[in-house]
Amino acid sequence: MQNSFPKSPKAINEPVRPYHPGSEDIKAVQQAYKALYNQNTEVPLTLNGEKFKTSNTAEMRPPHDHHHLLGIYHLAGKNEVEKAIESALEARKAWSKLSFQHRATIFLRAADLLAGPYRAKINASTMLAQSKTIHQAEIDAACEFIDFLRFNVQFAEEIYNEQPYSGDGVWNRLSYRPLEGFVYAISPFNFTAIAGNLSAAPALMGNTIVWKPSDHQMLSAHVIMEVFEEAGLPPGVINMVMGDPEMITDTLLASPDFAGIHFTGSTFIFKNIWQKIGQNIHLYKTYPRIVGETGGKDFIIAHPSAAAQEVATGIVRGAFEFQGQKCSAASRVYLPKSKAQAILDRVVSDLKSISMGSPEDTNNFVTAVIHQGAFNRLKEAIEQAKASNEVSILHGGNCDDSKGYFVEPTVLLTTNPHYDTMSRELFGPIVTVYIYEDKSFEDTLKLVDQTSDYALTGAIFSKDRYAAELALEALENSAGNFYINDKPTGAVVGQQPFGGARASGTNDKAGSKLNLLRWVSARLIKEPLLTPSDYRYPFLGE
Ligand code: NAD
Repeated sequence: MQNSFPKSPKAINEPVRPYHPGSEDIKAVQQAYKALYNQNTEVPLTLNGEKFKTSNTAEMRPPHDHHHLLGIYHLAGKNEVEKAIESALEARKAWSKLSFQHRATIFLRAADLLAGPYRAKINASTMLAQSKTIHQAEIDAACEFIDFLRFNVQFAEEIYNEQPYSGDGVWNRLSYRPLEGFVYAISPFNFTAIAGNLSAAPALMGNTIVWKPSDHQMLSAHVIMEVFEEAGLPPGVINMVMGDPEMITDTLLASPDFAGIHFTGSTFIFKNIWQKIGQNIHLYKTYPRIVGETGGKDFIIAHPSAAAQEVATGIVRGAFEFQGQKCSAASRVYLPKSKAQAILDRVVSDLKSISMGSPEDTNNFVTAVIHQGAFNRLKEAIEQAKASNEVSILHGGNCDDSKGYFVEPTVLLTTNPHYDTMSRELFGPIVTVYIYEDKSFEDTLKLVDQTSDYALTGAIFSKDRYAAELALEALENSAGNFYINDKPTGAVVGQQPFGGARASGTNDKAGSKLNLLRWVSARLIKEPLLTPSDYRYPFLGE
């Protein structure tokens, strides 16, 4: 019995640490990196808080150093997936009734563990598993993850405080129940923060989860589970299963208790899952919530009034940080003829100063792409560009997978605004540029809007406010996150809620109240203060 309405701690964004060469912070990360590199980690399944090993395993290797074995992870069979459902449903009985303050404290503790004792380890595991530089690991695995955990507590509290008006003589209340059943979280390789949040957000709202991480993020997924457990998460609230994604998904979607899916990944996979849910709809006890944030073909358009140097910096950072493997990464660029040369000269000279290699060497700005499949896809796109008479290569174009999956930052210039790489998501360090006539700015806005199926992020660079206004209007539905005079990447939780529409997702804005609302099913409770005891209304007379 609490007899109080406690306020949660006010969330503020976790400051990004600079990791200057030689600093204590960078030394701690380098030490954690070496330890994880050498220790041969074994990642079991987590079912009902217990660690399960199976006879079936897969290997973990750093993408920038794929001859080195980091360890193995265990793969679930159908039985283990069914056990995950059972343990989620069993855990739900107590978790869904646990007061919000206790649930919230667990995730706030997880945030503090990540900010303090686990910071070096979560960053190092992300550098190894996903080949992020220390800066990219810090803004993702430490800061964004911490921000998700802290801000979600504040947003959940705001939701719970939203109550209906009570008219004369009644008290109306809304109770924000968790969904009836379990939630299935499926995460992509590219953000450790997203992997953690896809489970943590619905769990904070009282749901229990079966989580399937990406095969290409297993080392950092393992650290996420460790942090949740250390923070005091009870058994069965988040169950981690790895293995054949199709078998796992089909097994979970066949359960009558499937209550919702929290997916981030590619558009094709999400559409396929949605279709399966539709086919199974008669099985379910409740209409499942379907939340999916998916692919992008993110744009930068520069107006003739833009400053060349600013546009160039937006392109270099927006397209090539983390090897272009952010869903928000700029991958198609529209430049006015009058400024194109100045902008592209600057881009090329910046790229010449960039070095590529292992994230362990902090001089490197670019490291490897995630796996052989990605490497092959990107190499093929570059080969096609080399063979096309509509494309010239302004920078890069070399690939080497002998030690790691290295694809040089590549700038393609095309004369065809509908060329393949202007509309297809490549998910790598390749940007395609199209030059338009200055007088065709408005027509080019239409082109930007209509060239791709996606609508995730986009940016306009312009000193002319009328042109910026025009772009905002013409591109209203072309991006869920729109940037003026800035690169289209780097959304911060609590400041720029993230998500796009069209083929880019359901736009439920991760890191905002809008997302948390998807994980509750409100119950209205009405109580008259004086309960009527006579059926007759006054109009009936005496
Ligand atoms: P992916 O679609 O290959 O994998 C995502 C998850 O789906 C993984 O866990 C994977 O194992 C699983 N999966 C694969 N096949 C499946 C199947 N048949 N059934 C069920 N699950 C299956 O994506 P990825 O390569 O890990 O991540 C990159 C993609 O994610 C890009 O398209 C990117 O744009 C997108 N992304 C979007 C956002 C966003 O907020 N919109 C954020 C991050 C990444």
